[in-house]
Amino acid sequence: MDKLQYTRDWKKEGIIVSIGETRVGGNHFLLAAGPCAVENSGQMSGITDMLSGSSVKLLRGGAFKPRTSPYSFQGLGEDGLKLLRQTADELKIPLVTEVTDLKHLDKVSQYADALQIGSRNMASYELLKEVGQQAKPVLLKRGMAATIKEFLYAAEYVANAGNEQLILCERGIRSFDPAFRNILDLNGIALLKHLTPFPVIVDPSHGSGRADVVLPLSLAAAAAGADGVMVEVHPSPETALSDGEQSLSPEDFRIWINRLSGLALYLGKAL
Ligand code: PEP
Ligand code: MN
Repeated sequence: MDKLQYTRDWKKEGIIVSIGETRVGGNHFLLAAGPCAVENSGQMSGITDMLSGSSVKLLRGGAFKPRTSPYSFQGLGEDGLKLLRQTADELKIPLVTEVTDLKHLDKVSQYADALQIGSRNMASYELLKEVGQQAKPVLLKRGMAATIKEFLYAAEYVANAGNEQLILCERGIRSFDPAFRNILDLNGIALLKHLTPFPVIVDPSHGSGRADVVLPLSLAAAAAGADGVMVEVHPSPETALSDGEQSLSPEDFRIWINRLSGLALYLGKAL
């Protein structure tokens, strides 16, 4: 195997990523939240109500959705990007959204403050090289069956192309157990923090597939050294067009943010 170039030894203090005024890494603990997918303006005003005044410093949400089934809701495309931009502006926080294909890159870049590469595209190397040339931070999610080494190589495709404003996201890996959609790899979080200078955040929503374990997994991720947590939320999860079963309701979200911010502050982090 080739040697990794972007190691913790190379940059012992770690890299701090800036998305607008939001900082991730070092002493900065990121709370990121938003819907799985943008559905309509009513849903997004519900999201604004949930997040406004909170310490969430990054809005997430999909407009181009990489769905397992071609019959599932595929996202609103550019209309979704507009709704996301409007919501982020109202909340005065930056926006990360996924780019699923090179042909959407210009469009997504027009609206987003940071570009998300999803689990299914972690190994789309041409896409990685291209986002590596953009003047926008990149949020790279771990492939659902990618080893830590493969994840780190994928990160180096982005960094080598010139973009070191890169955040890694552990989002769970495939397992034998149908109790969970994925298994959140706590080992991976702790190990990545030793190996990489890039901030490591955690997505316990996709990492479990169940809203009822998102809080304990978020606390565990923070304790394991993560630089932030990103969750899916919805004003009424039971009506969500995608990933409702793993989305926090307004009540869940209030508890989640209180408990997780409390722990982050206890660990000496800034929110
Ligand atoms: C997402 O975060 O919107 C998403 C699709 O997650 P993943 O790529 O991890 O499956
Ligand atoms: Mn989702």
